[in-house]
Amino acid sequence: MPNSPLVERDLKVLWHPCTQMYDHLTLPLIPIRRAHGVWLEDFEGRRYLDAISSWWVNLFGHAHPAINEAIRQQLSELEHVLLAGFTHAPAIALSEKLIALAPPGLSRCFFGDNGSSAVEIALKMSLHYWRNIGQAQRTEFVTIAHSYHGETVGALSVSDVGLYKAPYEPLLFKTHVAPSPDGRQNETGMDSARRALAGMKEILVRHSQTLCAVIVEPLVQCAGGMRMHDPAYIKGLRALCDEFGIHLIADEIAVGFGRTGTLFACEQAGIRPDFLLLGKGLTGGYLPLSVCLTTDTVYEAFFADYGAGKAFLHSHSYTGNALACAAALATLDIFAQGDWMASNRTLAAVISETLSTLRDHPHVASIRQTGMIAALDLVADKTTGQAYPPSERRGLAVYRYGLEHEALLRPLGDTLYLMPPYVIQENEIRTVVAVLTAAIDQATAAAAS
Ligand code: PMP
Repeated sequence: MPNSPLVERDLKVLWHPCTQMYDHLTLPLIPIRRAHGVWLEDFEGRRYLDAISSWWVNLFGHAHPAINEAIRQQLSELEHVLLAGFTHAPAIALSEKLIALAPPGLSRCFFGDNGSSAVEIALKMSLHYWRNIGQAQRTEFVTIAHSYHGETVGALSVSDVGLYKAPYEPLLFKTHVAPSPDGRQNETGMDSARRALAGMKEILVRHSQTLCAVIVEPLVQCAGGMRMHDPAYIKGLRALCDEFGIHLIADEIAVGFGRTGTLFACEQAGIRPDFLLLGKGLTGGYLPLSVCLTTDTVYEAFFADYGAGKAFLHSHSYTGNALACAAALATLDIFAQGDWMASNRTLAAVISETLSTLRDHPHVASIRQTGMIAALDLVADKTTGQAYPPSERRGLAVYRYGLEHEALLRPLGDTLYLMPPYVIQENEIRTVVAVLTAAIDQATAAAAS
C-alpha cells in the first residue's frame, strides 16, 4: 500500500505537534506502519533508523517483547482505575522501585501523565509547601537560560526558549533567569560552572525571601540546543539552594534513565534534589506517564486534618494508569537484567569516534557528548562561530536528506543530535553518522534558498 492515501487523509484532519503545517506542502509526512528495534517502517516498506528515540522516549527499541508482554498481561487484569481512593499493584510496585533507585531521601511518588504535568506538579507542590509552613510570600521560581520544561503554561513560564514561549508571554508568570552553564564558550567545564553559579547566586541574594525553587535540567539542557555542563554545576547549585533554604527541582524527564551515562544525571553530582521529575523513558517509550518524586519533609507539610486546608488537590484523569505502570515496571526489569550503563559506554565511544570525523568540517562546530546524547551545531563560519540565518533552515535540509537515506534525524534548528535507543548496533551508529555527514555536506554546500 502506498503512503499517499494516508498522508492525504491525515492532512485533511490532523494538526501535528511542533509543526508549521504549511511545511507539509513540500515536506513529506511519513505514515509509520510498524516498528521494531531501532527501525520504523512506512507503508511502502521504506525504513528509518530512529536516531532520536522518537523524541527521546524509547530506550530499548520499538516492540520490545518483554514490554509488549507486560502490557498484554496487565490488560487482561486491569486497564485503569482512578488513583484517588483506589490503588493498584503496578503503581505501588513502581513507586517502591523508583524510590529504591532514586537518590536516597526521595520517598514519595506523585504520578502525572506527561512530562509537562510533572513540571506543573513540582512547581505547585513547592509553592504550596512554603504556603503550608507559613511562608506564603514565596511565590517565585528561578530557571536557567535556554531551559526547556514543557509546553503547558506553568512549564512554559519556567522555560527559556523564545521560539516556543514568545507568543504566549501575556499568559505566563514571571520567572528569574540565571545564566546557563553551557560549556561552549571557550571555557573549561569548571569555569562555565563557576561563572553560571556566580550569576545564580546574585539572583538568590536579591530574591532570597520570595523564591520557592530553582528548576534545572541536570547535565544537558536538551530542547534548548543540547547544551551540556559539568556535574560541578549541579553540585554547586544544590549547595546554593541549601545556603538560601530553597528547593531544587531536577527535571530529568529527558536525561533520566541512563541517557547521560548514569541512571539519573543527579548521581554524577552526588546530590539529591527536593523534587525529581521523570517521564519519557519511564515507560520505555510506550505509554504516557510521568512522576514527581519528593521528600518526607515536603510530604509532611501537606499531611494534616482536612480542615487545615493543606491538601495537594491536584489530579489528572490518567494519573498512575495501570498499563503505563506495567510498561514502566517491565522497563525497570530490563535495566535490572543487564549492565546497560556499561554497554552504553561502549556505544557512546563509537558515537564519539565516528562523529570525530566531522571535527574539521568547515560548517560544524561544538561537537559535544554526554553519555548517549551527542550534538553539534551547523555554522556559517567556523572561525567566528557565526550561525546561519534561521530562515535558511539548514537543519531542516539535514532532516530531509536523512529521511531519503533511512535515518530519522529531526534537528533542533541548526543543532543536530543523536539520542538513539540503547539497542542500536555499532554498525548502525556508523551508518547513521555516515548519513548525517553526507546530509551536512549537502545542506551546507547549498546556497541560501
Ligand atoms: N522537561 C524536559 C526536560 C523535556 O525535554 C520535556 C519534553 N521534551 C518536557 C519536560 C515535557 O514533557 P512532555 O512533552 O511529555 O510534556
